[in-house]
Amino acid sequence: MSAELRLARIAEAHTRYVGIAGLTDGICAECGYTDPCPTYIWATTDRDPLALWNPEDDEDDEDD
Ligand SMILES: [Zn+2]
Repeated sequence: MSAELRLARIAEAHTRYVGIAGLTDGICAECGYTDPCPTYIWATTDRDPLALWNPEDDEDDEDD
């Protein structure tokens, strides 16, 4: 599987949750972050795939 296709599948998974009758609470169905979540942004932009997961964390220490 190509990297592009893999990213597309990730982005597809990380879309906002839509419940019955199309109700949405505006959060990612996959990880619970506010939509668009960091993973979705990561998967749909031209950022370096090896860069940190969350663009907002670029300045922070990793806590894992
Ligand atoms: Zn997500």
